[in-house]
Amino acid sequence: MLDTDALRAWAEVDYSAIAHNVKEVQKLMGSTKIMGIVKADAYGHGDIACAKALRDAGVDFFAVACMDEAVALRQAGIEEPILILGYTPPARFQDLIDYDLIQSVLSLDFARKLSQWAEKQGVKARGHVKLDTGMNRTGILYQENDRNFDELLEVYSLPGLRVEGIFSHFPVSDELEEESVAFTTRQMELFNEAVEKLKAAGVNPGLRHIQNSYGILNYGDQGYDYCRPGLLYMGVTSDDSVPINSAPDFIPILSLKTKVTMVKTIQPGATVSYGRHYTAKTPRRIASLSIGYADGLPRACSNQSLEVLIRGQRAAVTGNICMDQCMVDVTDIEGVQEGDIVTIVGKDGSETVTVDTISRLAGTINNESLTRLTKRVPRLDVSL
Ligand SMILES: *Cc1c(COP(=O)(O)O)cnc(C)c1O
Repeated sequence: MLDTDALRAWAEVDYSAIAHNVKEVQKLMGSTKIMGIVKADAYGHGDIACAKALRDAGVDFFAVACMDEAVALRQAGIEEPILILGYTPPARFQDLIDYDLIQSVLSLDFARKLSQWAEKQGVKARGHVKLDTGMNRTGILYQENDRNFDELLEVYSLPGLRVEGIFSHFPVSDELEEESVAFTTRQMELFNEAVEKLKAAGVNPGLRHIQNSYGILNYGDQGYDYCRPGLLYMGVTSDDSVPINSAPDFIPILSLKTKVTMVKTIQPGATVSYGRHYTAKTPRRIASLSIGYADGLPRACSNQSLEVLIRGQRAAVTGNICMDQCMVDVTDIEGVQEGDIVTIVGKDGSETVTVDTISRLAGTINNESLTRLTKRVPRLDVSL
């Protein structure tokens, strides 16, 4: 039994369900291998625990956003290749060597800088070159009427770099509208064309990867070497109201829970919380909960009938969500008392509340809601 006696708010993470979710991804991706994206503390799920579960499920390559995240994985004993997707300041180039990391080559200037530094040290820096086929965030531009193949070729020829792969990124792989599908398809064509031109020039392009979570769900196996799912192995998508081209059976691995701290009855005309946005019209039983926006429950969900689960039943949030607390209406739920466990995300009996609802009410996507869970919320391993 999970001991939550001493806790006020916590997340329960079933790391053992990652293996199931990885299998579901693999079913869609055939022989394309999986690069586990564990950036931002694996979207708030615990990067090291997720990386170990992914490794146990056969994942043999990881990616993070930045150097500190990569170093944390190495220090925790992750020995598989790790790609840093984002920028590494030159002051930290030495860590690329010391921790045997692979750097995204974000531009030609960056590539030259890294190569010059490496030559001076008498080492070779490992890289995957980013090709910008339409995101216009980072990478060497390779787009309609703007194909910088010479830049790409130069990156592969720099003496201080060992380019072991090439990748790109999709901005609209989540959209099934004709224009978005055409755009994404064109990105793959441009990417493939660049790869073929490298080969024709006698250059080994290395590992090719392009598909993020929605690129996987909507486009399936495209014959690349790797795909880069973040969200999917956590058992959710960015937004469950967005239609997709496949029907995987994912298990969400995270639940968010808190406790009732007190219950009171308020009289008609009484208001609840900051701003007095909720007014009781009849006598109401109001329960205070020990979770707030400083834990990661978005304040934007206030006054929008967000529901939580207590004793297997739904209770609506009343009034503004505070920094450390919020209030819910439990008038129709028998016997609610201090210490009752409250499910903010997850299952209680036959009822389920999803992170998607929180994201929708907060005007954001699950990626953000999950990464917003703060340090104050311990992640408990509830693997079976
Ligand atoms: C974050 C990120 C991913 C993973 O995205 P998901 O939508 O969570 O699958 C893949 N590739 C790059 C470059 C990223 O920055």
